[in-house]
Amino acid sequence: MADFDVEGFRERERRQGIPRLYNGWLHVASSAGLMGALVVWGLSQLHAVQILEWGLLALVALLGNAAVFFIHRDLLHRRRRFAQFAYYRHSEVHHMFFTDVHIVCTSMRDLHAVLFPLWVVALVLGLVNLPGWFLLDRFVSSNAAWLLLAGSAGYFSSYEIVHSISHLRDDHPLLWFPPFRYMRDHHRLHHAHDRMHTENFNIVYPLADWLAGTLVSKSRSLRAPMDTASKTSPIP
Ligand SMILES: [Zn+2]
Ligand SMILES: [Zn+2]
Repeated sequence: MADFDVEGFRERERRQGIPRLYNGWLHVASSAGLMGALVVWGLSQLHAVQILEWGLLALVALLGNAAVFFIHRDLLHRRRRFAQFAYYRHSEVHHMFFTDVHIVCTSMRDLHAVLFPLWVVALVLGLVNLPGWFLLDRFVSSNAAWLLLAGSAGYFSSYEIVHSISHLRDDHPLLWFPPFRYMRDHHRLHHAHDRMHTENFNIVYPLADWLAGTLVSKSRSLRAPMDTASKTSPIP
């Protein structure tokens, strides 16, 4: 994979994989609109929340971290018959479009290779919340059910935000913020083709990677890749 032609792949994907009518701004607006509306809807239903109920948000953040780790490692990087589309979109498109050397998303149209399709966002949040909401509402409290809705939509949006920031050009002001810079370095290492199936699966914060022994940090990496496109054609 050392001489993989990223630019050639990008050109082919832009021609054949990204629909002609695709609009990156519309993709961002629809995803943010859906997840933002669910967060606002969930929070607006709360009444006299107890401290322990607020703790559910921390639990959602921990479970979200674990879910991202396992889904990323075991579905997006292992070919499974029941999840061919997920493997294809991630391992065979996202990781070919972006490598540790060519990590920068150079246009809004290229967000097609970064963000989840809207139907995937709706499907995942539906699978979590349809059973979760009813179980919590029935056996814990109404507040817990609405906090699950707000928390899961909030965590999914934080995934999309941190992942998108990880594909910005090196000198983008958002990467001056140390947690974003750390996760960008973390994710860049994951994009190396010789370690994408084995290391750095977390996106928002690297807890599960640390616990599972799959965490590699920049200081432990032998390479210090530079992105030659990073200063020439940034996302605005
Ligand atoms: Zn990525
Ligand atoms: Zn990956």
